Amino acid sequence: MSTNRIQITDVRAILTNPQGQPLVIVRVDTSEPGLYGLGCATFTQRFLAVRAALLEHLRPFVIGREVDRIEDLWQQMMVNGYWRNGPVLNNAISGIDGALWDIKGKRAGMPVYELLGGKCREAAAIYRHANGADLEAIEEQVGRYVEQGLRHVRVQFQGYGGPAAEGGGPDGALGGAYYDPRTYTRTALQALEHVRNRFSDLEILHDVHERLNPAQAVEFAKAVEPLQLFFLEDALAPEDLEWFENIRNACTTPMAMGELFNHPREWTPLITGRRIDFMRMHISQMGGLTPARKAAILGELHGVRTAWHGPADTSPVGHAINLHLDLASSNFGIQEFCGWNDAVREIFPGCPEQRGGFLYPNDKPGFGIDLDEEAAKKWPCDAEVIQWTQTRLPDGSPTRP
Ligand code: MG
Repeated sequence: MSTNRIQITDVRAILTNPQGQPLVIVRVDTSEPGLYGLGCATFTQRFLAVRAALLEHLRPFVIGREVDRIEDLWQQMMVNGYWRNGPVLNNAISGIDGALWDIKGKRAGMPVYELLGGKCREAAAIYRHANGADLEAIEEQVGRYVEQGLRHVRVQFQGYGGPAAEGGGPDGALGGAYYDPRTYTRTALQALEHVRNRFSDLEILHDVHERLNPAQAVEFAKAVEPLQLFFLEDALAPEDLEWFENIRNACTTPMAMGELFNHPREWTPLITGRRIDFMRMHISQMGGLTPARKAAILGELHGVRTAWHGPADTSPVGHAINLHLDLASSNFGIQEFCGWNDAVREIFPGCPEQRGGFLYPNDKPGFGIDLDEEAAKKWPCDAEVIQWTQTRLPDGSPTRP
């Protein structure tokens, strides 16, 4: 590795939407010709705010700083605006943080997983999503994944919160995405039992998506206990974390939590108190690889495994970051993955590759992934008012999505 001081010369935000979700990619350029890095800053629902934080606030702060000092720069970026740990800022910081790790790997001539201690495994086991309108459709989807070689599948019946609820509310009830928690738990349980009966050796996962109140969550976690799930995700909302103790005392269903977390005080007590089995923070949302690798190590010391958030609104650069940490973490559990279309693969040469039930990296330096900016331009991002998060209960009350 050369020892001359390489500096950051530019930070750019590239927006693209090749698969129905706006993605924010950060490119950091350096004083060394041809040397640049890529990071993920995707907060898909507020991508314009992240771009402003990056370009208006962080870009002037980091230009001229040394690319090697990732830890120092991360600490400084987090407090430079004094107020900290919000989703917009964390994502913006993550974009620069990821790009600096990519640059460090390229300078070392090594994949980033080598810088993190080297591989514990050749590829990351993945789970994919089966979601259907009825039991037959769900069974068919699960069967297709099993044929592909997957051992882990997430099972949902008619999406988050189950079947849409219509009618029965008070006169004048406002519009929105209505659902009924009672209908949800009844139909979800049916779907999970159906899949367990048809696929006895499958690892089954389910995402409650914080659609239950705390007492309902304890009841549901007990109800699915005989089905021996791989994990039950987001049984509680971040506002109800203390209730994990009640779930632990009531049943052995493994708990996964964390995609909405912004602050270390959210994940730390759950990990050190052994209240959850899988941490599944969204790595850009928590501030990037730098805090994620620390949380992973904390989990190793407390018997908590990783299951980093990996939906379609994690960019391929974000997925590559997930994967490099998956490979180097002894306490890796599982990786969520949703698949990519041809447009995504054209924009991001070097995407990790799914074969069977696993996601494989390439062995190029850094994260091994690149960005074709001309291809990215073909898929522009439009800001729309989001409908699916306007959730309501049958009595018309607003609730969490
Ligand atoms: Mg989830």
